[in-house]
Amino acid sequence: AVPVITVDGPSGVGKGTVSRGLAEKLGWHRLDSGALYRILALAAVDAGVSLRDTDAVAALAPKLDIRFTGDHEDNEAIWVDGRNLRDRVRAEATGGLASQIAAAPAVRAALLQRQKDFRVAPGLIGDGRDMGTVVFPDAALKLFLTASAEERARRRLRQLSAAGQSAILEDLSTEISTRDERDRTRSVAPLVPASDAILIDTTFLSPTQVAERIDDLLKD
Ligand code: C5P
Repeated sequence: AVPVITVDGPSGVGKGTVSRGLAEKLGWHRLDSGALYRILALAAVDAGVSLRDTDAVAALAPKLDIRFTGDHEDNEAIWVDGRNLRDRVRAEATGGLASQIAAAPAVRAALLQRQKDFRVAPGLIGDGRDMGTVVFPDAALKLFLTASAEERARRRLRQLSAAGQSAILEDLSTEISTRDERDRTRSVAPLVPASDAILIDTTFLSPTQVAERIDDLLKD
């Protein structure tokens, strides 16, 4: 089977940076599974479908034409039915909408095959919450990143300002905790490390130090 490395963890923990770095280093593809939940939430909003009507939301999933281009945070484009929705997809508020629909079994089921389809040679880095537990349980290496809530809010703030979006640290901190709590306590695919995942606490590590630690794991 095509090899997979999974990178799971809560929001703002640096999964994007880590998984992009790995994809570049190994020359593998990358699945940003969170973006799929974000795109589906936006599609529902645009179609006037209530996010509570999760069957109707799920029904929108197969119709969406989704393409990712760019290999960096700075040059990424997210094409949905031919339009680049990158800024809306990345907005913090969209993360909240995504986590609301992500708690619904029908929504998760509707996106499952689409995620598996990203598994294309020579390999895949899967970035998300349930990559190692549900979508790619046979992954060769499973990483679960953690960091303190304060540090994650600071990282998210830096990321948003780099993207030209403004935010207040305290608001971000509240939004992130609400979202994490919802992700951790939902009944399907809750945010927990796979039993065979390797935990990396990145609170006091730079992106380079995290990458070095993962390099050591890859050598084993
Ligand atoms: O990672 P990102 O912030 O883009 O994810 C947005 C939301 O999508 C998460 O808070 C979570 O509720 C949901 N999600 C999920 N499973 C994944 C990826 C994201 O439930 N594999």
